[in-house]
Amino acid sequence: MNNGRTERPQALIDLAALGLDTVEISAKGVSIGAGVTFQQIVEHPDVPGYLRTAALQMVNRNIRNRATVGGHLVVNRSCADLIPTLLAAEARVSLVDRELPLEQLLSGESGLILGVLIPATGRSFGLCNHTRTSADISIVAAAASLDLEGDCVRRPILAVGGVARQVVRLHGVEQALDGRPLPAQGELESIIAQAVHPIDDHRGSAAFKRHVASVLGGRALLDAVRRPAIG
Ligand SMILES: Cc1cc2nc3c(=O)[nH]c(=O)nc-3n(C[C@H](O)[C@H](O)[C@H](O)COP(=O)(O)OP(=O)(O)OC[C@H]3O[C@@H](n4cnc5c(N)ncnc54)[C@H](O)[C@@H]3O)c2cc1C
Repeated sequence: MNNGRTERPQALIDLAALGLDTVEISAKGVSIGAGVTFQQIVEHPDVPGYLRTAALQMVNRNIRNRATVGGHLVVNRSCADLIPTLLAAEARVSLVDRELPLEQLLSGESGLILGVLIPATGRSFGLCNHTRTSADISIVAAAASLDLEGDCVRRPILAVGGVARQVVRLHGVEQALDGRPLPAQGELESIIAQAVHPIDDHRGSAAFKRHVASVLGGRALLDAVRRPAIG
C-alpha cells in the first residue's frame, strides 16, 4: 500500500554485470544488447543509418546516455522514438528462455530482455517524428520499411507512435498498399488518417494527432520509396 508516500521496492536488481551492453554486426543483421544506451547506437560506426537516426530522435544526449534499449521496450510508451523503427525492421527480442517478434512482446509478453535482433533485410526505410520543441518527446513518430519491385511496393510496414496506448503497426494500411505503386500523397494520407484513432490529451487534440500521423506516415513511406535500400 502506498499511504501517500513514495513506494519503495523490496529489492533492486542491477543488470549492469550481465554484459548486455554490446552492439554486434554480422551478416545476419544487428544484435543490440538490452543494456545498450541510445548514445551507444548513435556513436556505433557500423549500425545502419536508419537505426542511428531513430536513436537520435531521443530528446537529448543526457537522456540518450542513460536510456537503454531494454528499458525503452519495457516502458513501451506511446510516443517511444525507437520502437517504430524496430517494428518496421521486424526486430525480434531475445528473452532468457525464448525469442519472439517485438510486436508480440509489446502486446503483453514479459521477461528479462537480453537483446534485440534486427535482421539484415536489404529493405528501404523512412522515418520521421514531430515534437513540440527540440527539448520535448515526440507527439507522433512514424517509421516505414518496404521492398520495391520496379514501381511496386512489396510488404510495406508502417509503425506509428502517439496514436494509441503504444506504438502500433497499421496492418490495414500495409495490406492496402502492398503490391502496387505508392498512391499520390493525398490518397496516402487519407488511407493512414482513417486507420489511426488517437485521443485528445495535453499533447494535442485527436484531430491534430490524426493529421500529423497521416502526414508523417505518408512521408516515411515516400522517403522509403525514394531512398536506396540501406538495411
Ligand atoms: C526526462 C526523460 C526524457 C525522455 N525522453 C524520451 C524521448 O525523447 N524519446 C523516447 O522515446 N523516450 C523518452 N523517454 C523515455 C525513455 O525512452 C525511457 O525512459 C528509457 O528508454 C528507459 O530506459 P532505462 O534504461 O532508463 O530504463 P529503466 O527506467 O531503468 O527501466 C524501465 C523499466 O524497464 C525494466 N527493464 C530495464 N531493462 C530491462 C531488461 N533488460 N529486461 C527486462 N526489464 C528491464 C526496469 O525494471 C523498469 O521496470 C524519456 C524519459 C525521461 C525520464
